Amino acid sequence: MIPLEEAQNYVLERVFQLSEEKLDISSAYSRVTAEVVTSKELVPPFDNTAVDGYAVKAADTEGATETNEVTLEVVGSIPAGVQPDFEIQHGQAARIMTGAPLPQGADAVVMVEWTNVGENENAVRVNRSVRNGDHIRKAGEDLYPDDQVIDQGTSLTAAHIGLLAGLGVYQVSVIRRPTVGIFSTGDELVEGSQTLLPGQIRDSNRFSLMALLESDGFETIDLGLIPDNKDVIEETVQEGIGKCDALITTGGVSMGDYDYVKVVLNDMGDMRWMQIAIKPAKPFAFGVVEGVPVFGLPGNPVSSMVSYLLLAKPALNKMMGRSKIFPDVLIGDAAEDFRRRVDGKTHFVRAFSSQQKGVTLVSPTGKQGSHQLSGMANADTLAIVSDGEGVLKGNPIEYFRF
Ligand code: AMP
Ligand code: MG
Repeated sequence: MIPLEEAQNYVLERVFQLSEEKLDISSAYSRVTAEVVTSKELVPPFDNTAVDGYAVKAADTEGATETNEVTLEVVGSIPAGVQPDFEIQHGQAARIMTGAPLPQGADAVVMVEWTNVGENENAVRVNRSVRNGDHIRKAGEDLYPDDQVIDQGTSLTAAHIGLLAGLGVYQVSVIRRPTVGIFSTGDELVEGSQTLLPGQIRDSNRFSLMALLESDGFETIDLGLIPDNKDVIEETVQEGIGKCDALITTGGVSMGDYDYVKVVLNDMGDMRWMQIAIKPAKPFAFGVVEGVPVFGLPGNPVSSMVSYLLLAKPALNKMMGRSKIFPDVLIGDAAEDFRRRVDGKTHFVRAFSSQQKGVTLVSPTGKQGSHQLSGMANADTLAIVSDGEGVLKGNPIEYFRF
């Protein structure tokens, strides 16, 4: 058996960032930028008011209080989107709406809550003093021309997308998202709700893995359910490498007599078959066939998902240009005993993490067999229990969320 890190490094050394593509910002959310974006404009483009109120000369409001209001002459009203064509003189104010450009001569805005209408609509009584610049959003306060808006290698958030739109940049260069072909292997597997014949089970891996791939932002191509037949497996790999950036197979990488995936990968490319010191998901095959990485995940339903999370997903993250390749390993409190026996392996226990009074409690979720998907279904966390006797209730336990 080899340590998990060795298997992960072996894979990561053999996968590479994909090429770039230009995307409309409306489809670029969570994609990784392949370019630095700089501002060509001032944002905001002009001095404007942050509140609804009155544009004034600050000095005119000096000493204003509830009991000593200052009355100013209202010389206009400025809606957002309109450039005022008048200038504020001493003793004057202009009604102004949030986002509207400041008129010439004004150097502060009094919010409407600090005013009362005067005797007539051409007068306003101000009951608080303001200082030069109050409630004004200065031109360029957010961005200046040549400011770096987004660095290369940034995973685009909603705010980044908004920033780009605000600058009039509607296309952005990003790293391509890997298209991942997936097929299941196994003569015992069927798809459909028909009554199972003796010895048959239904294929679940293809579906759980496609869902994982989708939730992680990768594109999927379903290459189907393939029998334990060398020629058919080889044809499917050929088909897959023609249209995918990576392939994932499940089953056929263990010690069984009909485990042909590793045999085929060995014939077709540069394949390494590994026994990793983890439970579940010990067997794993990885090969590069005509430049396309192929992940041979084990067949047991929980194993295939754990193997994906630990080995395939980090590699796909790298291909997509993500800087964060591995999940954060966190520390919580074991809510129950996580007992185990010494077997030379690190155990990844299906668990659920919850917050209680500022502490994260990590609880195992039911059935832990590598064939028991029900235990996985309620899990959002894998607890990492290193070789030994396990972790007892109340003790710190490492975990990561998926
Ligand atoms: P294998 O890795 O091919 O030896 O399969 C290990 C176990 O996982 C066997 O019990 C298989 O029946 C089961 N298995 C393999 N592939 C799938 C699949 N796609 N869906 C559900 N179970 C599977
Ligand atoms: Mg099999």
